[in-house]
Amino acid sequence: MLEFTLQQTDMGGVARVGALKTAHGTIETPAFMPVGSLGTVKGIGPEDLMGLGYRLILNNAYHLYLRPGHRVIEELGGLHSFTGWPGAILTDSGGFQVFSLAKLCRVTDEGVTFQSHVDGSSHHITPERAIEIQEALGADIIMAFDECVALPSSRERVHEALRRTGAWARRCQAARRRSDQALFGIVQGGHDPALRVESAQDLVSLGFDGYAVGGLSVGEEKSVMYSMLDATVPALPAGRPRYLMGVGLPEDLVEGVARGIDLFDCVVPTRHGRTGWLFTAGGRVLIKQARYAKDECPIDPACCCPVCRKHSRAYLHHLFGVKEMLGVRLNTVHNLYYFADLMRQIRSAIAAGSFAAFRREFHAKREAAGVVGAGDAADRGGIEELAAMQEGRR
Ligand SMILES: [Zn+2]
Repeated sequence: MLEFTLQQTDMGGVARVGALKTAHGTIETPAFMPVGSLGTVKGIGPEDLMGLGYRLILNNAYHLYLRPGHRVIEELGGLHSFTGWPGAILTDSGGFQVFSLAKLCRVTDEGVTFQSHVDGSSHHITPERAIEIQEALGADIIMAFDECVALPSSRERVHEALRRTGAWARRCQAARRRSDQALFGIVQGGHDPALRVESAQDLVSLGFDGYAVGGLSVGEEKSVMYSMLDATVPALPAGRPRYLMGVGLPEDLVEGVARGIDLFDCVVPTRHGRTGWLFTAGGRVLIKQARYAKDECPIDPACCCPVCRKHSRAYLHHLFGVKEMLGVRLNTVHNLYYFADLMRQIRSAIAAGSFAAFRREFHAKREAAGVVGAGDAADRGGIEELAAMQEGRR
């Protein structure tokens, strides 16, 4: 079961506040979903997530199918029982992971054959199999199996993937055995507005419980992602939730909401937390930097999270430097709080009819602090540094 009620809109009906009612609680939208690929949001237990205000998280069907196996989780009562998470769960069908993580991926109209990124074993996933796996896992919201093409690709190749995604969406609907899970379709179409609209219209004609926009935030310029949303969202029905997959940075959440998106997911707050990148209203703090060694201030003096109420930048700098587990945990708690709080602020701005002003102030504050967005040179340097840090940890 899934009921979506629009409660208030702003900016001429584009930005929306809604309530998404599931068997595991009601989620206020727009909402951000923390990512728990392997059945855990890394380092953060269910009580902490609830305490931070989260009611919906994402688990990954591809990862859980490989380890520990969907049948094991089914035998143990499904994901909610297995993980102890009392809130709602959305599972990603695995399409994106198969195409981005697996090796020797071979796609036909029938399905995808690939080698596990874990042990090299061979697997075959079809739309029917993706539904079977997600029904065994037992999330509240499941996703259709889609084909994500690597971009840039030719228009013909993007169109082929779009056509296949539509055919697979029909097979996903036909393969369903459970009626207590919501199924979302995934719009593809690369960076071509006309193909995005074609994909959206095809899926809408099938009637899904919600619609996701896939295949974005994969390295394109932000302006491209935003223009794809401008093309896609008006083709989706107003009464169904819209989910922008794999997005994103704080500015992307604000801009996504300004284009009618209700749900987001991204590894950014947790992954950045593990690598010492902390989000604040005035931009990011890279906690390993020497300038924080004796800094008595909290990460963000304006933040009300349990970490900022108690700990200094100096302490977090120390924990990070000596690679203590607590450092990673505290960084993640702060970042997840920042994302939950940003969504709260967005919802109250929409409810008050002042989202346009909120959006202006959000960007102005960051520009004043020298954060122009992830596309600017300083940030690109940061991302390269982040990648290098992750490489060093493997
Ligand atoms: Zn904080």
